[in-house]
Amino acid sequence: MATIIGVTSGAGMMHNGRAMPLPVPPSKLPAVGTTIFTVMSRLAAEHGAINLSQGFPDFAPPPRLIERVGHHMAAGANQYAPMAGAASLREAIAQKVETLYGARYDVEGEITVTAGATQAIYTAVAAFVRPGDEVIVFAPVYDSYVPAIELNGGRAVFATLRHPDYRPDWDEVAALITARTRMIIINTPHNPSGAVWDDADMAALQRLTQGTGIIVVADEVYEHMVYDGVRHESVMRHPGLRERSIAVSSFGKTYHITGWKIAYCLAPRELMAEFRKAHQYVVFAVNHPMQLALADFMREQPSFATELAPFYQDKRDFFRRELDGSGFRLLPCAGTYFQLAAYEALSGLPDIEFARRLTVDHGVGAIPVSVFTPGGEDHRIVRFCFAKGEATLAAAGERLRRVARITA
Ligand code: PMP
Ligand code: GLN
Repeated sequence: MATIIGVTSGAGMMHNGRAMPLPVPPSKLPAVGTTIFTVMSRLAAEHGAINLSQGFPDFAPPPRLIERVGHHMAAGANQYAPMAGAASLREAIAQKVETLYGARYDVEGEITVTAGATQAIYTAVAAFVRPGDEVIVFAPVYDSYVPAIELNGGRAVFATLRHPDYRPDWDEVAALITARTRMIIINTPHNPSGAVWDDADMAALQRLTQGTGIIVVADEVYEHMVYDGVRHESVMRHPGLRERSIAVSSFGKTYHITGWKIAYCLAPRELMAEFRKAHQYVVFAVNHPMQLALADFMREQPSFATELAPFYQDKRDFFRRELDGSGFRLLPCAGTYFQLAAYEALSGLPDIEFARRLTVDHGVGAIPVSVFTPGGEDHRIVRFCFAKGEATLAAAGERLRRVARITA
C-alpha cells in the first residue's frame, strides 16, 4: 500500500473498503480561518442587514469608465496585457504621482499594474522575504499582511498603534528593528482606524531605516481619502524613503471598482526588477480592457481622484451626524472610508459577539476591530464603512440610533 506522506488529518476516503486519511499536510496557516470580511458580509446577506462591514461602495463607478471598458473589449483588447501593465496606464500613473507627489518614476522599469493591492503586497513579500526574516507590521493590522509573511517563511513582528488614537510609537519601532528585519509594512491612511500619518512619522521612519537594507512596503490604497485639509504623506514625497519603498495604491478604492481587483505599485528600478520576477509567475499580467479604460479615464478626468476627499468627507460627516443621539461614541476619522465606534454604553459583550448581534438582531453589519490585533485585544469598538449612498447611511443611522442595550 502506498504511504501518504505528511498526513495529519482528514475525514477519510475509502480504499479497499477501509477509511483512508486525506492527504492534507500540516497547515502553513494554522491560525487562519475565513476572513472577517467574508464572514460578516455573508452574515449581513443572510439576515438582510444593511452591510456596513466589508469596505466597498454601494454606488456605481463613473459611467464613462464602464463605457471605456466596453469600447476596448469591442476594439479587441481581449488578450494578454504586457506583463508590467498596459503602457498607457503606466504612463497615466507616472503622470499622476509626479503631479501629486513630485515623484518621477520610469514608466518602463518602475511601475507595475497588479491584480489588486492584495496581490501587490503579497508579491512584494514573496519577492523579498526569506525564511527567518522579520517583517515589522503595525497592529491593528490589515488582514492580508501576516499570512503573506508567514506563507513565505517570514516572521511578523508587531508594533503597536496604541488605542485610542492609533499613533505609531517610534521608540517601540526602533527597539523592534534587528539584523533580521527585512521589511516594514506601513498603511496610511490606516484601515481600520482611519488614522493618518504625518510628516514627522515619515521622518521618523526614514531615520530608522536609513543605512539599513530594510524595504518599506507602503500600503496607500486610501491615498485620496484624507480629510479636513490634511495632505496624504506618501512615501513617494520623501526621497529618503522612496529609495527603499514599494508604494501600493488601488484603483478599486479610487474609482469605486473594488470588484475589478486592479491596482498598481511603484518602486525604484532595482527593487521593481525583483518584484517583477515574482509578479510574472504569480499573475503574469492583469486584465487588459480595464487597464486601457482606466488609462483613458485618468487622462480625461485627472481631478476625479483628487475630488474624492471632499466627496467622502461629506459622507463621513453625514454618517457621524446620523449617529448623533445613538449610544455609540465615535472616534476621530482622519482618513479612509471607515468610522470606528465605541459601544461601551450599549454593551459589555466582546466585539465579535457585539458585531454579530448588531447584524442579526439590529440589521446593521459591522467589523469587530479586535480581529486585526495578534492577541485579539478588545476595546469594544466596531468599524462601519461609510462608502454608501445617503439613503443607505440614513437607514443604517436610524437602526443604530434605536439600539438600546445588547446583552448576552
Ligand atoms: N490594503 C488595505 C488597507 C485595504 O483596506 C484593502 C482593501 N480594502 C487592500 C489593501 C486590498 O485592496 P485590493 O482590493 O485592491 O486588493
Ligand atoms: N479591504 C476591505 C475592508 O477592509 C475588504 C477587502 C476584502 O474583503 N478582502 O473591508
